[in-house]
Amino acid sequence: MNKKNGTKQDVNLVNLIEKYGNEEKCRDYLAGLRWPNGIACPRCGSTSVSKYRDKAVYDCNSCRYQFSVTAGTIFHDSHLPLWKWFLATYLMIESKKGISANQMKRALSVSYKTAWYLCHRIRNAMSNGTPNLLKGIVEVDETYVGGKAKGFGHGYKGNKTIVVGATQRGDEARLQVIDDNGRKTLHQFIRENTAPNTEAIYTDDWPAYQGIADHDTRHETVNHSAEEWVRGDVHTNSVEGIWSLLKRSIVGSYHKVSVKHLGSYLDELEWRFNNRNNEYLFRDTLLKLIRAENLRYEKLIEKAVS
Ligand SMILES: [Zn+2]
Repeated sequence: MNKKNGTKQDVNLVNLIEKYGNEEKCRDYLAGLRWPNGIACPRCGSTSVSKYRDKAVYDCNSCRYQFSVTAGTIFHDSHLPLWKWFLATYLMIESKKGISANQMKRALSVSYKTAWYLCHRIRNAMSNGTPNLLKGIVEVDETYVGGKAKGFGHGYKGNKTIVVGATQRGDEARLQVIDDNGRKTLHQFIRENTAPNTEAIYTDDWPAYQGIADHDTRHETVNHSAEEWVRGDVHTNSVEGIWSLLKRSIVGSYHKVSVKHLGSYLDELEWRFNNRNNEYLFRDTLLKLIRAENLRYEKLIEKAVS
């Protein structure tokens, strides 16, 4: 693993344009992702399918349904050409700090609304539907995001939003917006995201974490309030590294992230972080997109508000 230099990706901007620079190339690629075992009718499942007129439309020989590779997918009722979706996906996974809707608007020459919608749909597809439980040594910490109150820590949070994170050493992370940093909330987050037999939970000395240990899970703390940051291998530096990524994204790209969208920014950060050593991240993100629920604009707004 080479976290500092990142993993060599299977795509870069040059071969992205060579490989996926027009609609036909994008469609062929999506067809391979959607139907790895051969084209199948999305209505009846039949694999007896003919190409209709040109390559863009297929014709089912069983039920006569005509469909394209994007039928029933997130790409379908988008007026955007597929190569712009591909480029947007690339820009989102490639940018360590994330990309704002304004940057996306300029990169793709689209309206702000289109760019915003596109970013959110890609971000939504990145959300981890059924994550594995973390295990081994897991660091847990909370941080405050947004608002005007200065300083981080467990004290006054003003109008900031609390985010809790857990990361398995050298492995994946889970990030979530929480309403409070009390014992019940933090314990619930840890229970939902770690395996019952996790070797150890490392936190700072915030009292709400007390009592999380059990017969097969140790709980070790570093006493941040006494300026103790590392004791042997006990520290929360990995999860704090994620906070610094999060803060640089918010300062660098998103500026003001409204609370209602923070959850989806966390999904995006989590996806990039968890795939930091995945050289097929571009392919895997497109796979998530082609399998994602086709969220309409109204629903997306509704989801963001709720
Ligand atoms: Zn059919």
